Amino acid sequence: MEDHFKRFCSICGTRITGRVDKRFCGDGCRTVHHNRSNSETNRHVRLVNGILRRNRRILEKLVPGGMRTVQSTLLFAAGFDFAYHTRYEQDARQSRFYCYDFVYEPAGTGKWKIVKLDEAILHEPNSEGRGAAV
Ligand SMILES: [Zn+2]
Repeated sequence: MEDHFKRFCSICGTRITGRVDKRFCGDGCRTVHHNRSNSETNRHVRLVNGILRRNRRILEKLVPGGMRTVQSTLLFAAGFDFAYHTRYEQDARQSRFYCYDFVYEPAGTGKWKIVKLDEAILHEPNSEGRGAAV
């Protein structure tokens, strides 16, 4: 019996026969589909990782001494992308953004206080102490 709705492989366009939930004509096209979607994911992961690494390099360069308050314009000029961070915390008085082992928080109009966290604080299981470093 002819299918009422004609279905086609979403990779090669071949007419699909058999089960109604089939999306591909066969294993070959299914593999192509999975490889494509994996490489899309990897592309996005690489893109975001690249932005975060660049942000970290900028913070490291701007804060050689481990702590500094800088103008936003300095961060923007260096190419810092405020849309990406690795962690975010907020309490009643402050917001904190993390970029790996750096934390930056608003410090008055147009200013950011940047602190490099030390390894000991970062790896404490219940890192209550990390606020003290900021
Ligand atoms: Zn196909």
